[in-house]
Amino acid sequence: MAFLFNSDAARGTIFRQAFARELPDLEFHHSGECVDPEKVRYLLTWNVPNDVARFRNLEVLFSIGAGVDQFKPETIPERVKLVRMVEDGIIRMMQEYVVLGVLTLHREMLAYREQQGRGLWQALASVQSTDRRVGFLGLGMLAQAAIDRLKPFRFPLAAWSRSKRTVEGITCFHGDDQLGSFLKGTDILVCLLPLTKETSGILNARLFSLLPTGARLLHVGRGPQLDQGALIESLDSGHLAAAMLDVTDPEPLPESHPLWSHPKVIITPHIASVTQPHTAAQSVIENIRRHRAGQNPIGLVDRTRGY
Ligand code: NDP
Repeated sequence: MAFLFNSDAARGTIFRQAFARELPDLEFHHSGECVDPEKVRYLLTWNVPNDVARFRNLEVLFSIGAGVDQFKPETIPERVKLVRMVEDGIIRMMQEYVVLGVLTLHREMLAYREQQGRGLWQALASVQSTDRRVGFLGLGMLAQAAIDRLKPFRFPLAAWSRSKRTVEGITCFHGDDQLGSFLKGTDILVCLLPLTKETSGILNARLFSLLPTGARLLHVGRGPQLDQGALIESLDSGHLAAAMLDVTDPEPLPESHPLWSHPKVIITPHIASVTQPHTAAQSVIENIRRHRAGQNPIGLVDRTRGY
């Protein structure tokens, strides 16, 4: 029985050591090494290799990232479990980034940066955190972890999910019918949705129009969820005040793209959260143990929902 690691060599070395220590009965192979395809039961990858069909005994396909939108599930046999990465390193980094982004947008850092460029020392009107409503699109693992870190700042917090949820200290909305009410009460919108057929293009002109004037966007989901042209129009019209984007479509954004130089936009190159090999290896090992014991792995993807 074999585990095939199809990602960068540096992380592969750390995985190999952890597997040798904790699952010595399982052969570990890095892609490029000679492996009998019949032996491969587990594959960890970002993109599904074109020749995945040769792994006829594959049982679990692990994503090296927190999302699985890059997999094309219809090309993967139903018997194969799809598992997204759930690990402490990703969670901690996302908590840092969301706190950084919300505070950056809340404390007008873009406007101060612009003033700095002009050598202008001038205080802008400030808003208390208790008067700045932060709303999350998505109330999954990462949104809930980020919300925990935001709580001490005392922003009024809300979230919107697909199904009904109850989380202490959060005003919860769900489903298409409640999206408008949620947006109406959101001053800083944080997108932490998985990319699915339903969420593709969700950050569009209509959605922006439902936010209050002066609202801000922190986008950490996936690039194709955002209509970039609609964002620029909304910023230029003054309806939205600022945006911080960690994900774009395409990635990287072309050099000439107007978002790069937009004065109301901060862009980071999809670094909000990155899989950390030591904690990720532990998580995958634990999931293999669960799978072998007949339990579902943590992060098992529901193919019908797409996340
Ligand atoms: P989860 O699967 O734990 O949570 C997803 C949340 O989105 C759930 O609350 C779910 O609702 C909600 N949701 C999904 N579809 C819809 C819909 N159609 N309408 C309303 N709500 C919906 O995901 P995670 O929190 O682990 O991760 C979220 C995403 O963050 C990842 O898929 C990835 O795209 C992105 N990400 C970005 C990173 C970066 O560096 N920029 C790094 C890591 C992740 P419900 O609760 O009802 O199921």
